[in-house]
Amino acid sequence: MDVKSARILIVEDDEDDYILTQDQLEKLDRHHFEIDWVTNLNDALDQLQKNVHEICLLDYHLGAYTGIDVLEKAQALGSHVPIIMLTGQSDDDLDRLALKAGAADFLVKGDITNARFTRAIRYAISRAEIEKARQQSLNAEIESRSKDRFIAHLSHELRTPLTSILGYTELLLNGDKANDASKELSTILNNGQHLLNLLNDILDLSKIAAGKLQLKPANIKLNSFVGDILTLMQMPASEKGLALKFYASALVPESIYADPTRLRQVIINLLFNGIKFTDFGEVSLCVDFDPAQPEHIRFKVCDTGIGIAESQIDVIFIPFQQLEDVTLKKEQGAGLGLAIATELVRRMDGVISVESKLGEGSEFTVSLKLPIELRSPLEPLDVKVSDSQRIEKYPQLTGKVLIVDDLSDIRQLVGEMCRAFGLDVRFAADGSQAIKAIEEPESDFDLVVMDIHMPVMDGRKAIVKIRELGYCKPVLALTAANMKGVDLELKSLGFDSVIGKPIDRNVLFQSIADHLKSTKTDWESENHQNKAPENIQQPRVLVVEDDIDAAELIVLLLESLGITAVIANSYQSCLSLVRQSKQFTHILLDKNLPDGNGLSLATEIGQFQSNSELIIVSGEEITNDELKHYGIKSALLKPINLQQLQNLFG
Ligand code: ADP
Repeated sequence: MDVKSARILIVEDDEDDYILTQDQLEKLDRHHFEIDWVTNLNDALDQLQKNVHEICLLDYHLGAYTGIDVLEKAQALGSHVPIIMLTGQSDDDLDRLALKAGAADFLVKGDITNARFTRAIRYAISRAEIEKARQQSLNAEIESRSKDRFIAHLSHELRTPLTSILGYTELLLNGDKANDASKELSTILNNGQHLLNLLNDILDLSKIAAGKLQLKPANIKLNSFVGDILTLMQMPASEKGLALKFYASALVPESIYADPTRLRQVIINLLFNGIKFTDFGEVSLCVDFDPAQPEHIRFKVCDTGIGIAESQIDVIFIPFQQLEDVTLKKEQGAGLGLAIATELVRRMDGVISVESKLGEGSEFTVSLKLPIELRSPLEPLDVKVSDSQRIEKYPQLTGKVLIVDDLSDIRQLVGEMCRAFGLDVRFAADGSQAIKAIEEPESDFDLVVMDIHMPVMDGRKAIVKIRELGYCKPVLALTAANMKGVDLELKSLGFDSVIGKPIDRNVLFQSIADHLKSTKTDWESENHQNKAPENIQQPRVLVVEDDIDAAELIVLLLESLGITAVIANSYQSCLSLVRQSKQFTHILLDKNLPDGNGLSLATEIGQFQSNSELIIVSGEEITNDELKHYGIKSALLKPINLQQLQNLFG
């Protein structure tokens, strides 16, 4: 039988009453009491503030004090022991006062021998038990909440400065201020990013340790899931010159039920490791499913890298464990990835295993259980979005391309992409190297892809020089600056097109393909006319027009004629563009500009720039004398149409 034990404090200055109470308590069946007896206020408070008793039986008259005095003093000392007050005779007012002051009950000593006393004790004990359990869970909650708060706080505290470090480093790298420090800034950026990954890993690990990691299972469509992963991994693989391959069993479930974010994290981690620890060959992902054993699906990540010695296999799954190898010191990582992956997979009711041979490569397998009730129909896995396959789908281009970038990573990256498009690739690390390469008699580049922010000579200075040298093939600018007006400014300097960073492979392909095509047409027509290509100068037009719709229309019309054009929308912006660049073969000047007259603008341009042909665009006829006076070659009457432009540039 369940025996309840409790520690009881009796505060009673009359020994007879104490003995009576004690006798009564001992008579209570299924209870065992440990009794402490005190006879004065100080001893009572001493005991009460220790909070070690389940109940206190308090005599209402304790020397000079009332029970309510004692109760209030005890509460002030932080006691929460339930107090049952005992008094000589029944008194409704006292009863009310005592309960109001926080007493658990109020009994007349004469009642001690009857059921009322027993009930009061039992009730107080139950209440004490409930209160104890509540306190315990409250404390646990406070403790765990403060741990959570600490982790959340730590994460916030570390993330905030990291955000600034990463953000400003990127800003500096992409802005004019990087100059000679871009290598150092890239190092800061890499390390900052590494720190952020580490922080994420540590947070994951602490969530796992606290049992706080909540998985959010959902239906995962394998086609797009695998496609997205391969698309993401294509770039790091090709940066290291590795093939990223994909294999699948003939039939696999159309979807599986697991936490997509976490499963993706695991597979990406394995693929990243594969790439990190492989210098030659390939890394592959395989989705392995056997219809004869439909209770499992396996994701295998294989590499042809450095491999792992048999004796070390267990070690790599322990947090912060990395295999000592001086050759790997260059690799980043904290040895947390596999520990987290193992735990995540375990939580998904799966396992990670590895087979590896030192020097030959490794095969990591994530095996997940597929509950019968959640099985989906089988189908062939059709991963369309794999980047490696997409590259092969690019129609192959021919031509020789010069890639100019001071950052070897970016240079190699763009180089890899261009090679994948079928192009012959050469490199230069800054503007002056690019000029040297272009000037080489045999160089014969069909196209140049040039970064803007470079040490020694940046892209802006380089393009002006390149155009002055008479190089008239397409030059594409690479820039991360996406501020308004940068495109316009770069085109006005002589770039044919501007490609934003981070570089989108498809955009790069399309841009190169378009420009190589248009160059070919020019060349064909030049050869047809039997002219030396060097003597041909592509028209490059500046359209000075404040009405943006009208200006854009003229640009569109010119582009339809294969002519590159840029817009200046005021007198002053025209002057500053022309001062920066002597690249405009023609300048179309609107006669009425908000900040000046097109005719006097023509005179001003003529004072420092005689290379460009000036054409005035006006709503009224302008006499030949006027044209001559202002140094203007011809006039176009508004509204401008294609025919007028064809006549002008034909
Ligand atoms: P990290 O890669 O961040 O160091 P991991 O937990 O992912 O941490 O891996 C732990 C260690 O296991 C690595 O440092 C490496 O020594 C070894 N390892 C993991 N994957 C491979 C692999 N594909 N080939 C060779 N060694 C590996």
